[in-house]
Amino acid sequence: MKLVTFERGGPRLGIVVGQEVVDLASLGSRELPDTMIELIAAAPRFLPRLEELAASREGERLPLGSVRLLAPIPRPRKNVFCVGRNYAAHAAEGARAQGREVVVPEFPEFFTKPPTAVTGHDAEVRIDPEVTRKFDYEVELAVVIGAGGKNIPRERALDHVFGFTIVNDLTARDLQRRHGQWFKGKGLDGSCPMGPWIVTKDALPNFADLAIALRVNGETRQQSRTSKMVHDIPAIIEHLSRGMTLEPGDVIATGTPEGVGYAMDPPRFLAPGDVIEAEIEGIGILRNRMA
Ligand code: MG
Repeated sequence: MKLVTFERGGPRLGIVVGQEVVDLASLGSRELPDTMIELIAAAPRFLPRLEELAASREGERLPLGSVRLLAPIPRPRKNVFCVGRNYAAHAAEGARAQGREVVVPEFPEFFTKPPTAVTGHDAEVRIDPEVTRKFDYEVELAVVIGAGGKNIPRERALDHVFGFTIVNDLTARDLQRRHGQWFKGKGLDGSCPMGPWIVTKDALPNFADLAIALRVNGETRQQSRTSKMVHDIPAIIEHLSRGMTLEPGDVIATGTPEGVGYAMDPPRFLAPGDVIEAEIEGIGILRNRMA
């Protein structure tokens, strides 16, 4: 199932069925959730009913092309977790660009992006030249946590996954370097496009080996497979949850493959007017225009 949050006089929940969105609020049911986090937190209760709805003709259906999608979780309850240097070829290109020795992290390297960075599919992302001159893209498969937990072993990690979406880990490289810690350079407003929807885990069984790509103005810049992650999703969940509680609706972006702009020779950064398409097989395309 593909689940969306969209704008209709406020954020609404919907199910994508073909080229239509079923507006859950149109059913006028008190039993159904109002927000994606609520849905995720009680997924075992809600998902069977949503499957039924998707297969029926109940509820108001809007053409997908006519609705403004928001990020599936428009305002996460906490920072979006991210993994750095999780594709060997990306770790290598970064080291090359900085004249450093190639280091592929032995353990997942975690950082976060604040909830204020989150934006949706087709939203414009403003680049302020007073703030950054080196804005860059990173397509990433993102995991959405379902059942919360702590000290989750890799064997049970997938029991805690609700579904998957796409994150573009937009990064101000100049700020990332200047401030040492990555948080500032990766935390600017609008720098976490997410979407276009969440695909539930059952609908994406092959998540460990999906084509992942990113295009700028139609030109392919990144192209790889999720099977090339250094630390796979069960390992990421195992490490992140060690001594730290994960909660329903937490989002973990799992790292980007090679082909980022700053590692090109010469480097190529984003400019106003650029259209970025981050695509993952089985999920779709997350598109944003730089303004
Ligand atoms: Mg990244």
